Amino acid sequence: MTTLRYRLAALGAALALTVTGGAVVGPAVADGQVTQKQPTAVGFGGAVSSVDAEASAAALGVLRNGGNAADAAVAAAATLGVTQPYSAGIGGGGYFVFYNAQDGTIGTIDGRETAPAVMPHDAFIDPATGKPYRFTPELVTSGISVGVPGTLATWQRALDRWGTIGLGQALQPAITVADRGFVVDPTFRQQTLDNKARFAAFTTTSSLYLPGGDAPAVGSIFTNPDLAATYRLIAANGIGAFYGGPLAGEITNTVQNPPKTATTTLPVPVGHMTAADLAAYKTVDRDPTHVNYRGYDVFGMAPSSSGGTTVGESLNILDQFNLAEMNDANALHHYLEASALAFADRGKYAGDPDFVDVPTDELLDPQFGKERACSISPTTAATKPVPPGDVETIDGACPAAAAASAGDADTENISTTNLTVADKWGNVVEYTLTIEQTGGSGMVVPGRGFILNNELTDFSTVFNPNDPNRIDPGKRPRSSMSPTIMLRDGKPFLALGSPGGSTIITTVLQTIFNRIDRGMTTPQAIAAPRATQRNTPKVIAEPDFITKYGSQLTPFGHVLQPSGDSFTSAAEIGAETAIEFLPDGRMLAAAEPVRRGGGSAMVVTPSP
Ligand code: GLU
Repeated sequence: MTTLRYRLAALGAALALTVTGGAVVGPAVADGQVTQKQPTAVGFGGAVSSVDAEASAAALGVLRNGGNAADAAVAAAATLGVTQPYSAGIGGGGYFVFYNAQDGTIGTIDGRETAPAVMPHDAFIDPATGKPYRFTPELVTSGISVGVPGTLATWQRALDRWGTIGLGQALQPAITVADRGFVVDPTFRQQTLDNKARFAAFTTTSSLYLPGGDAPAVGSIFTNPDLAATYRLIAANGIGAFYGGPLAGEITNTVQNPPKTATTTLPVPVGHMTAADLAAYKTVDRDPTHVNYRGYDVFGMAPSSSGGTTVGESLNILDQFNLAEMNDANALHHYLEASALAFADRGKYAGDPDFVDVPTDELLDPQFGKERACSISPTTAATKPVPPGDVETIDGACPAAAAASAGDADTENISTTNLTVADKWGNVVEYTLTIEQTGGSGMVVPGRGFILNNELTDFSTVFNPNDPNRIDPGKRPRSSMSPTIMLRDGKPFLALGSPGGSTIITTVLQTIFNRIDRGMTTPQAIAAPRATQRNTPKVIAEPDFITKYGSQLTPFGHVLQPSGDSFTSAAEIGAETAIEFLPDGRMLAAAEPVRRGGGSAMVVTPSP
């Protein structure tokens, strides 16, 4: 870390010569150490894994200064709001899971965005035509899809419950990065280019992210003084400065009156959010979900996320089979079939529990998993979509075959970010946060330097009163975020999570399966090629997965489609982060070696 500090100082000196406020300037400041990422790190005293070296360095700095995992996680998340602004930030929401070493408990915070109090059931119908808006571009780039942000309230709640420092202090590393800038990498440039048309539609977004009409060049330094000032305002005045006061008015004005350029032809439907919605926003403390998988206690995020129930149910199904003794093809076949079954139940039962009765306990009942496992043939893939199970009568007996159902349209996107932190006291944070789509709604709040989410696109787009994920005013759209902490004998074993829309669930599931059943180390389990079966006729799989296993899985009847071919699939599935707690007391922080440009793992005191 001496080297890192030295390099940061060197970067600061270089920046003083090259940066003018807000603009991306060249030439590139080459500083290998700041942008250089290392996907695994082993050692003592605390650890962090995130997608970004600046965010991991922010967390490590807090840990080194005596902060705990909650403090460090908030510092890292705030920094991701600067360096990964298209994936996360104070304009969005997320789910924070904390293992408390003092009492061995796991607590969670639901910081999901909520629908405005006056959002109508037909919000996704165009009043001009009476027909549904198209998902792209109308819903994705709109005020109508902006949910009341929960991220700042989550940070405050996490610090209040578990932290040792104030929010103002936790924001300082992010303020530093926003002021001095970060080095633009190919992923940032590409994400900006992918959003160029819609970013160009807004005066605010184009001036921040398309200076001179182009995406920032790779290697240039990107500063965000507006965001630094916003963070300073919040540091000085607390989150009330966001959920009330002028900033709240500016947010609602952006939603109701998007800052469109004079020439844009994008429709950008306006939204319903009011200052009262912001003032009323509350995080929710929820009990974690829990299943026991082969002796490991697996804790996840309860609804309004479907992550904990769907990962947990899948594990309960897989628990019925001796996967470790199967060859690759047979084990993977069971993994794919189990997740299809759990996704069928997710579609039927999961939604915001404050609005619909979600049978969380039943979905996670091992007997229900046993019943669902009955329908897996050892030799043949079921026709998808498979029907949901019946949680009304759970007795562990194999149910009669049910009729097939239509399945759900999957419109979740592939953005988001995830981080994992552990401290020297043994506390652990797993935190997934998002603004939904890469680039969220596309709208930067004027003069404030952050993008508003488009999370409400996670509601079912067609209103059906029997759908647990239907639009309702004040409701949270169903999420797939799956921050997960596994304990063995009451002590942390593995914490993990990922972005990726509904593929988050299968990424976390596949990694647990790889680690526990297939003899991989955690770095191997993360690096392994991924496939995702979300109760659809085709399995979406990374090209490497198809190369490696395609010919072995085809005889079962699995139809594999390369990821990247459809709207909901990027070529890469997920961008995971994890920490494993090794038997000798060391922590193994692990991030992606390749996906999304690779992640950044760090430990306080490295060991060989
Ligand atoms: N909106 C998604 C969810 O809540 C996350 C977005 C993503 O990962 O792309 O599950």
